[in-house]
Amino acid sequence: MIHLAPFYDQLEAVQLGDAHFDAQGRVVLGGDIDRKTICLRPMRKGLPEISAERIGEQIRVHLYGHGGSGWTLLWGSVNKAMALFEERARAHKLNDQVSVTVIGAGCMGKAVALSLYQAGYRNLRVVAEKDDGIASLNSTGYLAMVSMATENKSEKKEAEQLAIETLKGYQKVDKGTHSIINEGVHLIDVYSGLGKEGEEGPLETYTGIEPFAEAGLLPKPEQGVVKFSTGVNYPMQKFRTYFMDTAVIMAAFDRELRTRNIPVVRGTIGSLDDIKTDVVFNCSGLGAAKLNHDDRVYPNMGLLLELAHQPLNKLDYIIYTRYQPPGAPKRASPVDKADIYFMPRRGGLLGATFIDHNDGSDNALNEALFTRILRENKQFFGYSL
Ligand SMILES: Cc1cc2nc3c(=O)[nH]c(=O)nc-3n(C[C@H](O)[C@H](O)[C@H](O)COP(=O)(O)OP(=O)(O)OC[C@H]3O[C@@H](n4cnc5c(N)ncnc54)[C@H](O)[C@@H]3O)c2cc1C
Repeated sequence: MIHLAPFYDQLEAVQLGDAHFDAQGRVVLGGDIDRKTICLRPMRKGLPEISAERIGEQIRVHLYGHGGSGWTLLWGSVNKAMALFEERARAHKLNDQVSVTVIGAGCMGKAVALSLYQAGYRNLRVVAEKDDGIASLNSTGYLAMVSMATENKSEKKEAEQLAIETLKGYQKVDKGTHSIINEGVHLIDVYSGLGKEGEEGPLETYTGIEPFAEAGLLPKPEQGVVKFSTGVNYPMQKFRTYFMDTAVIMAAFDRELRTRNIPVVRGTIGSLDDIKTDVVFNCSGLGAAKLNHDDRVYPNMGLLLELAHQPLNKLDYIIYTRYQPPGAPKRASPVDKADIYFMPRRGGLLGATFIDHNDGSDNALNEALFTRILRENKQFFGYSL
């Protein structure tokens, strides 16, 4: 599957010369490190839940559980939820005067609210416990099928279909022809390793871009050499995918919601039965574990070190690779989980862990993982420890 067009890319290294550890080995804030962020991916065993049901006179549409690929599955998932809703609405002869509550102000909830408006529904409101510090805003916005919990080939295939439809949506955003938003998306190079198991340095990694490249929707990967400005160089594989600036897109959603007078109300829904509108869209992410009594939903923790003072105009690339640090005890990381994960989001960030069934409350573990992230990134980018 590898297209043999060698490249030799000279890249600016992420600046980590002014990033330090304290006497206990913890990452110190200041210098190149701006913030330590702990966030949770709304995982769901199997596929995300996208379904519609009728409870009494009410139609409920569920749209949650997208794990680490919610932005990658966004448009495909929203379109599917809308199609299920329209089918029910036709069957029950609903008109566009019906009242609709959308629970959740993440990318799913906001995109659904705007899609409903576009379909003619005007009696809409979004209710959310939080619209800051949520997965959709912390997400790094890399278009790739990673960190999902599909359990068999047919589920994987179904998820890929949603992702491919979503990619087509972002292509429209990029061209300025999308019907909802037209900003915050661009193509970007993604580098991952070529090393074999047991070797040192960047190792072969499933980047999650492969399904798009195989479908001919994104370029096939190339093998070549990356040389960083610090002098280190590695044989690497280069992919190309879309990078979604999630903060910019969420701000665009907010602006479009305001322009259309769709209220976003702060509130916590205790039970779906408490909502009296004709229609409910349940886009509550992890909240669905309780709201829809869904025991397949669980958190997966992602830690991010947000950076400061980076020459971001020269850092327009992604590193997504497993990594065996030189001289370190050999360890087995899953093929599809990156150890070195640099994304040029906001001021630039390093991450990310993928820890299942972890709600982020174990501070000692978090600190140990932040230390590992910084230590390994310093080694990878060619800084002394
Ligand atoms: C560190 C990290 C990196 C990621 N990187 C990527 C990436 O590169 N690419 C990618 O595609 N995806 C990525 N993701 C995944 C992506 O961010 C999520 O899948 C996506 O944001 C989920 O969106 P959502 O709208 O379903 O949920 P959320 O953004 O979690 O929103 C849920 C909303 O529901 C509300 N809510 C919950 N319960 C209730 C209740 N009872 N009452 C009222 N409101 C409620 C919440 O307050 C919130 O507003 C990443 C996630 C993390 C954490």
